[in-house]
Amino acid sequence: MYKTKIDWCDSSWNPVTGCLHGCEYCYARRHVNRFGKATMDDDLRELDEPYRDLVTGTECGEIARGRINHYPFGFAPTFHRYRLGIPAKWSEPRTIFVGSMTDLFGSWVPDEWIQDVFTACAAAPWHRYLFLTKNPMRIRELYSAKALPYADNFWFGSTLTSPDDNFTWFRDTPYHGFVSIEPILEPFGEMETEYWPEWVIVGAETGPRKNKVVPEKWWIDEIVEACAEKKVAVFMKSSIRDLMGSDFKQEYPWEVRP
Ligand code: SF4
Repeated sequence: MYKTKIDWCDSSWNPVTGCLHGCEYCYARRHVNRFGKATMDDDLRELDEPYRDLVTGTECGEIARGRINHYPFGFAPTFHRYRLGIPAKWSEPRTIFVGSMTDLFGSWVPDEWIQDVFTACAAAPWHRYLFLTKNPMRIRELYSAKALPYADNFWFGSTLTSPDDNFTWFRDTPYHGFVSIEPILEPFGEMETEYWPEWVIVGAETGPRKNKVVPEKWWIDEIVEACAEKKVAVFMKSSIRDLMGSDFKQEYPWEVRP
């Protein structure tokens, strides 16, 4: 859980796992289906679907009868409360992707889970926290309800699957906003928008899916051009390194900011 293959962060941290969005290309669901056979105590099996709050166990999910299982409820949304203290144990500052195995801002996630995760982040303020969602309006709702903490080390991102997706929840706010176009499934054109994020991540679909989308270089070039015009940092995932050749680049906004 601590080391990650995700190249735009140092570590991933998953106090919540499971997701109801149902994306066809979901790596997390594939991973859970492979390694997360349900082997739970009967008591925990009786908890209501889809909200599972896992209050027992160790950091690695060793929860019952000496058996290790990171995902005892499969891909049902699960709160691993026992993982909340993990960032505070990492003494060196890291850039942490919060929730690589879930959408923390999915409409089904209880407010309490989200607030408990924010509290755990605030308890280890030496890290940078990256939150990413396919449901950015939940972030806007939290903001409107004054329930979205502002901190210079909190970055809120939206995954865009289509040029029509709304990602400008951060308009007229001081929050750091970024977008992740990953996997890129179609051309995005010039991304005309009044409100620009500070960072754009772009990558291709990976894994063995049958109808996997393979992007063309001009799809990425268009995005890069639009970002250059607006002075927005671009991070290309390793999945498009060969495609981009000498145009490949990996920028972090906190490094290029004046
Ligand atoms: S939002 Fe992420 S975790 Fe949820 S189904 Fe889609 S790819 Fe999987």
